[in-house]
Parts: sequence; C-alpha cells; structure tokens
Amino acid sequence: MPRKLDLRSGTPVWSAYRSPAVPADRLTRDVNADVLIVGMGISGAMMAQALMRDGHSVICIDRRGPLKGSTAATTALVQFEIDQPLTRLSMMIGGDAARQAWRRSRLALLNLRGRIAELEISCRSADRPSLYLAGNKLDASGLHQEVAARRQAGIGASFLTREKLRGGFGIERAAAILSHDNLALDPRKLTSGLLMAALQRKARFFAPAEATAIEDNRLGVTVSTRDGPLITARHRVLTTGYELLDIVPSVSHRIISTWAIATRPQPRNLWPLAAMIWEASDPYLYVRATSDGRVICGGEDEEFTDEDKRNALTPKKTTSLTNKLGKIFPQLDTTAEFAWSGSFGATGTGLPIIGSVPDHPRVHAILGYGGNGITFSQIASEVVSGSIAGREDADADLFAFER
Ligand SMILES: Cc1cc2nc3c(=O)[nH]c(=O)nc-3n(C[C@H](O)[C@H](O)[C@H](O)COP(=O)(O)OP(=O)(O)OC[C@H]3O[C@@H](n4cnc5c(N)ncnc54)[C@H](O)[C@@H]3O)c2cc1C
Repeated sequence: MPRKLDLRSGTPVWSAYRSPAVPADRLTRDVNADVLIVGMGISGAMMAQALMRDGHSVICIDRRGPLKGSTAATTALVQFEIDQPLTRLSMMIGGDAARQAWRRSRLALLNLRGRIAELEISCRSADRPSLYLAGNKLDASGLHQEVAARRQAGIGASFLTREKLRGGFGIERAAAILSHDNLALDPRKLTSGLLMAALQRKARFFAPAEATAIEDNRLGVTVSTRDGPLITARHRVLTTGYELLDIVPSVSHRIISTWAIATRPQPRNLWPLAAMIWEASDPYLYVRATSDGRVICGGEDEEFTDEDKRNALTPKKTTSLTNKLGKIFPQLDTTAEFAWSGSFGATGTGLPIIGSVPDHPRVHAILGYGGNGITFSQIASEVVSGSIAGREDADADLFAFER
C-alpha cells in the first residue's frame, strides 16, 4: 500500500473553466487550533466548512496546495447510487446495513444540494437522472431485482426494458434502471467555494505544508511538518485522499488506476435529459455532460497502482473510451479534447472508511472512496464533525474502521 502517489496526469477537463484561486500562507511558526485538517481537496473543504459552522477554530494544510490532488481529476458524477448494487451489498454486509448505507448516501446528496444552495456556491450544479445499464455484473433480471431491493429500502427506481430505454434515451441495451436526483457539477468550483466559505469564517490555510509525524494523547495532537513548525490541536482530521499517513491502517483499501476523456462542447448532440450513464459491469464505463455540453466519459479501470504504467497506457485507454462512447451514442463527436488518468482508492464493499483511527481517538481519517468519492466526502463531513461536537451519528458504525 503506497503512502505517497503521483495522483493524476494529463489534462482534466476542468482546466477549461475558471475557478477562484484559494489563498494559503506559508507556515513559518508553530500554530494552534481546535482542529487541524490535513488535505485540501473536496474532503478537506467539506470538513472545514462543517467544522467552522460548528464554531471550531480550524487550520488546513496541504503538501501540494489547495485543489492539487485527486479532486482536480474527478469526473464529478455525484451520485447517491453506490458502486456496489444494493442486492450485492446486502450479501456482503447484510440487508439492514446495506439498506441503511444506501439511504444515508441518498440523504447525503440532499444535504449536499442544500449546502450548495445555502452557501450560494456557483459550481454549475445540475440535478440529473441516471441510467444504470445492464452489463456483466447485473443483467436485465439482476436489474429487476435491484429495483425491487431499492424500493424495499424506500429508494425510488424504475426498471426500463430494452424498448423503453431505446425509445426514451436512444440507447441500445437489454435493460436499465432509471433514478433521479443525482448531481453533475464542477468539482473545483465546489471545492474552492467551500474553502472560501471556511476562510470567511476565519479558517487558516497553510500550503505547501506537509504533515510528517503525529503525537497524540488524551488532550490533543501535535503534528510535525516537513519544514519544522509544529501544529497543535484538540483533534486532527486526515482528508489526505488516496495517500495515507503511517498512523492510518490501510485495512481493505486498495489503489487502482482509471482514465477519462472529454469532448468539445456539443449541446445539440446530447441525449435526453443529459442523464448520467453508468454500467452494471466490472470495470464499468460512465458518461456525463458538462453544463456547456462537453461529454465526459471514464472507466477502463485496471487493478494496479504503478503510475508510470498508468500514464503510458493513456493513449490506448483514450482510444478505447472514445470507441465505447461512440457505440453508446453514435451521434456524438467523440474526439477527445481532454484526456487524463488518475489513481483511485477502492474497498471491497464500495463503502468508505470514516472515523477515528483505532487507538487514536483524536485522529479521524477518511479513506477508500471508490466511485462515490464526493458523496462519501459529504457523509464524512457529517460523521466526523458530529463526532468532534459530541453528536451521535446513527450511521457512524456502518463506516467505522472496526466495522
Ligand atoms: C479520474 C477520476 C474520476 C473520478 N470520478 C468520480 C466521480 O465521478 N464521482 C465521485 O464521486 N468521485 C469520483 N472520483 C473520486 C474523487 O475524485 C475522490 O474521491 C475525491 O477527489 C477525493 O478527494 P479528497 O479531498 O479526499 O482527496 P484529494 O483531492 O487528493 O486531496 C487530498 C490532499 O491531501 C494532500 N496530502 C496528502 N498527504 C499529505 C500530507 N502528509 N500532508 C499534507 N497534505 C497531504 C494532497 O496533497 C491532496 O491535495 C474520481 C477520481 C478520479 C481519479
């Protein structure tokens, strides 16, 4: 399990859009706060904003700088639909826990939507339906059972036959599940909006500043940084994405490689409702549109971590994604204007691990996001800020290290 990674390469599509620069100071002396957050991507941003809202003083640091990790590479299909189908997750962790995980994920989307509205963050956020296409993981009858399981959990879903899928969306597959209320957004704008909201409430940001060692006791934590200054805090939250500090056990968490492309803007060629598309396959392909009509397509995941090998494969993976996109939507110009790759954390169940690190109650960590990283960052900000404030979260055990 590597502890440091070259998280991404190539040019993600978000470089085509402006997002406000987030200022950060140099860390030149020892500092102190209620909570230290290590990592300033989407997870750190959500956490900072949640903790500031609870009235804590917060310091955030990043060894690269704000928004320089995986968050800049995400394709940002913000879905409540967990990578692991409810029927499969039920077999892994039991029906009650699986239904609760799906419900919490659904709730997280509602809360995120409210948060964006309340803070008036302009991140090109749009509600999108999603189509989960039959594939090698679930065929038409598997999807039928999945719809029944979701409905039993109180989560709306419609089964589309081949004819309905073709008639409604022009897609040729054996069947699909139609869901509503997922979000498509610009992840850099969302992250910088959340960080700026925390800054307005007097959060302090330092970068580049790398956390190297941690000492903790009953009263708090002391963190050493590479350049020397110490940071003391009552709690420390590790939102370091797919890079882990030594204190964090890498339980059931693995790093895989993934690729994505984006086309030129072509709003007239888009399919009905610009629905998000993903497949009940392993690995799966996924597709979304940006607000100006570019088409993003990602997938082709491979079970290895080696970044050089990942980068060398980008031309081949770009061709493959382009061809697969063209097969689903022959009307599109599938030429890739942007192509990029990234490392990606995953767990066997598809659920993240969120909570205090075993034997270190004042050190909280979030890891193993899978394809629902942004949804899980929202859940993590709720669970961890609740734990620090002494609020009991009914779902905390679902995601805990010891689950
Ligand atoms: C190609 C791709 C497509 C994806 N698509 C989707 C999608 O469609 N939907 C979705 O929900 N998720 C998706 N994801 C996952 C999603 O991008 C991640 O879950 C999310 O960006 C993780 O955010 P983060 O803030 O936790 O990590 P990051 O953005 O990586 O931030 C962590 C930060 O911690 C810093 N750091 C690390 N160690 C230290 C240290 N010791 N000291 C100081 N700072 C440190 C790093 O420099 C980094 O900036 C995708 C990921 C990739 C790569």
